[in-house]
Amino acid sequence: MTMSEESVNDKSHQPVDPTARTQMQWQEILSPEEFRVLRQAGTERPFTGEYWDTTTEGVYACRACGAELFASTTKFDASCGWPSFYAPLAEDRVRYITDESMGMKRVEVRCATCDSHMGHVFEGEGFNTPTDLRYCMNSVSLSLRKAEG
Ligand SMILES: [Zn+2]
Repeated sequence: MTMSEESVNDKSHQPVDPTARTQMQWQEILSPEEFRVLRQAGTERPFTGEYWDTTTEGVYACRACGAELFASTTKFDASCGWPSFYAPLAEDRVRYITDESMGMKRVEVRCATCDSHMGHVFEGEGFNTPTDLRYCMNSVSLSLRKAEG
């Protein structure tokens, strides 16, 4: 992202509040791939994203609005090609939407702050994690804030 909040704001005269942005404003701020995933609920190709095998410590924030959503301490290797977490940073950071568009029931995960698409959550897959949940996220929906030191 190279465009600052200010330049977008000057051009559109719209509030910076991410919940008030229109699809056109998002399109100006985000890259085409970010827009496709975050605002059109797309999915990046597995094993291509920036974070699928990242073990760096830090906090993963929503790439659209900057809200902190996941901690690296809950990230685990699900070998699925997408960054996977067993829990969000806090339950009120995300919202869930039941998605039956693919002919099966899936639960979509969105950023609670700006309503951008993050990925899906799956349960009962038998991973050795405290929750038996897998928050299967798109790398392009997140940006990693590395822990200091
Ligand atoms: Zn967000």
